[in-house]
Amino acid sequence: MATRPQKMTNHLLCPRPYPGKISLVIPMYNEEAIVPALRGELERFFTGVPCEVEIVLVNDGSSDRTLERIAAWAAEDSRIKVVHLSRNFGHQLAATAGLDYSTGDAIVLIDADLQDPLEVIHEMVARYREGYDVVYGQREARVGETRLKLATAWAFYRVMRLLTQAQLPVDAGDFRLLSRQFRDGLASMRETHRFLRGMVAWAGYPQIAVPYRRRERTAGETKYPLRKMLMLAWIAVTSFSSLPLKFGFGLGMVFGLFGIEEAARALLAHFLGKQTVPGWISLMVVTSLIGSALLMSISVLGEYVGKIYEQVKGRPLYLVARTFNVEEPAREDAPARSSNHAKR
Ligand code: UDP
Ligand code: MG
Repeated sequence: MATRPQKMTNHLLCPRPYPGKISLVIPMYNEEAIVPALRGELERFFTGVPCEVEIVLVNDGSSDRTLERIAAWAAEDSRIKVVHLSRNFGHQLAATAGLDYSTGDAIVLIDADLQDPLEVIHEMVARYREGYDVVYGQREARVGETRLKLATAWAFYRVMRLLTQAQLPVDAGDFRLLSRQFRDGLASMRETHRFLRGMVAWAGYPQIAVPYRRRERTAGETKYPLRKMLMLAWIAVTSFSSLPLKFGFGLGMVFGLFGIEEAARALLAHFLGKQTVPGWISLMVVTSLIGSALLMSISVLGEYVGKIYEQVKGRPLYLVARTFNVEEPAREDAPARSSNHAKR
């Protein structure tokens, strides 16, 4: 994906009526502690929404009692749809599954931990009615996060912007509202290594930010430790940019020139009759530097080849073990669910 749009495309906004149905997509991984609070907040919020509502809870292979709790909730409330994945596929794929199963006119992707206040959705819907296809929440402030999290998140968005796409909005997470049309476009992008924010930026359409204050996690702890953040950053960089390949090439060039310079120096010393044997240290240095440049370049290359291999296998992005309150199948090429399993 080498396209790097520098300027925002100008769209003519086409105002829309209030959505007939709003879908909320919530990926959940080991969030049993949050279910009661989530239920309370959602029920309170939706009493004030003048349209049909559906909530797609994706259980991303939780190892705690999340599934049990949300299945019980779904049994009491038909607006709750549960998509239970066969194992933990990670937040980006769980969100993709949720989007595939959503049927609303406006679809809101939100985390289970209630860090993103639900009231912001009203403002997002107002923007949707103005004609925007993507309304993303942009964090003005983050309360109660560790300094490390704040610093890494700050660096993450800036580096990503530099390396991937000029239009990747900073400080915007996955909390966003998508129009039906946009969701259909996004759903047709079936790449294995997904960085949803980058994909949304790539897809275009009229997009706008809504600033909001991010709250503390209501319960439980972050499921995005530093390791997962780094992994996401690596996927983001290598699936949206070929810059690391160029970096490897540049590095090889630098060390190649260094090697030539060292060789010239050795020759000069030889012809000037200087003692040359002690030069073995510089030789060692150059050899190891070149070796490291080569290994780095090859490993970056390997990373891309590995990604191609994964993509070529053409596996489904996720597998659904079971669903609750879901009648219609998701996308056509979405993984086949064993409906006998699904409905017992
Ligand atoms: N999540 C998920 N699968 C994972 C990790 C996280 O579905 O492998 C969900 C998690 O349950 C939450 C959302 O993704 O609803 C965001 O995670 P979290 O709040 O832990 O991330 P943070 O806000 O700390 O970046
Ligand atoms: Mg969170």
